[in-house]
Amino acid sequence: MTDVFLSEAQEKLREQAKEYMAKEVIPAAEKIDNDDVIPEALVKKLLGPPLRLTGISVPKEYNGMGASTIDACVVAEQVGYACPALIPLMEIAQLFVHGLLYGGTEQQKKRYLPRLAEGMVGCYALTDEGPGSDPAGMKSTATKKEDGYVLNGRKRLVTFADISEFYIVFAKTSPEKGGKGISGFVLEGKPEGFVFESHARTMGLRGHRAFNVLLDDLFVPAQNLLGKADEGLRLALEILNTTRISLAAGFVGLASAAFDAAVKFAKQRVIGGRPVIENQAVAFPLAELAARIDAARLLTYRAAAMHDKGLKHKKETSLAKFYAGETLIQSVEVASRTLGAYGASPDYPVERYLRDAFSWIAAQGTVEVQKLVVSREL
Ligand SMILES: Cc1cc2nc3c(=O)[nH]c(=O)nc-3n(C[C@H](O)[C@H](O)[C@H](O)COP(=O)(O)OP(=O)(O)OC[C@H]3O[C@@H](n4cnc5c(N)ncnc54)[C@H](O)[C@@H]3O)c2cc1C
Repeated sequence: MTDVFLSEAQEKLREQAKEYMAKEVIPAAEKIDNDDVIPEALVKKLLGPPLRLTGISVPKEYNGMGASTIDACVVAEQVGYACPALIPLMEIAQLFVHGLLYGGTEQQKKRYLPRLAEGMVGCYALTDEGPGSDPAGMKSTATKKEDGYVLNGRKRLVTFADISEFYIVFAKTSPEKGGKGISGFVLEGKPEGFVFESHARTMGLRGHRAFNVLLDDLFVPAQNLLGKADEGLRLALEILNTTRISLAAGFVGLASAAFDAAVKFAKQRVIGGRPVIENQAVAFPLAELAARIDAARLLTYRAAAMHDKGLKHKKETSLAKFYAGETLIQSVEVASRTLGAYGASPDYPVERYLRDAFSWIAAQGTVEVQKLVVSREL
């Protein structure tokens, strides 16, 4: 399919990503799900050329690919189509890179960004032990000391913290100020006091790993403050306002995979002498999905184009994220019903898509939270 809004170079990038996924990833997706492990060799390949999933959005001046938001969406869509368990690798890099770009000093950018471009992994710990939808209510604290801060608290669902070399962590520097007293910090290595408590298991996206982490008197030097003290929540939301766009593109990718599987099945499955797709009851939900997936894709690329043009896009990002999320859930439901009992069979990928969709939907803010953002911008 030709998308009128993609340049020739972006069409080429899409074909390249698609071919790469078909060769390296799609054949491995079922095994990744069964084993709940992404082979190390595959991770290494994905972080290297041509896709460089962690370096894709690192600006060229820091040795990255300098990809636009549209470029990132093009790649995320293909990864989401092929194996969404791999998307968090790209997404946490987007979170880390934009954290540095929006809040980092030049010294911090020079220290971390070139290493991400080389394929090192950085992650993002915003969600606290309380509700992820209300980061202002986080309990983690950062107490000021003479030459730095001491962090205490618990972080949930820190994706790929195990293979990360760097972490952005948020905690309250002024707890009495609520959401206006949060600060961001950038950490390196496996610092003492950054304790892995448990692996947060999920029914889908198997292979991706998220961890619950205890911050136990974790000392962070003053120069590792990211942005200004007490302005961390504003920074966290600014980062998410960008990274939710490529996440929505990933949702579009998985929705398309479910749709394609459903159409293929409905054309091949012959009942009463004709393919089931010839029944309107089967065909119309698919026709509706075709429209919804295109609409979700258009909303996503509009938000990406607005970001690339330097326009304000808070409403458009959240519109894209919730619409793509709801479309994804509808797609896996319609696909599962179209396949009848095979929808639940591990011999078809649709049951995996269904588990992946429900495991993924809350990442970077739930559908309801996106609707809240949109409603506040009306
Ligand atoms: C695959 C995956 C990877 C993740 N990786 C990371 C990561 O690397 N780093 C990180 O920091 N976090 C990560 N998260 C956490 C994610 O950001 C949170 O799950 C998300 O913000 C929702 O928080 P919660 O799960 O605590 O739900 P809750 O906040 O407890 O929400 C429960 C329900 O209440 C609804 N709700 C809450 N507030 C409102 C409201 N005001 N109006 C209407 N409805 C509301 C929600 O929509 C939801 O339905 C990840 C999550 C997933 C699923």
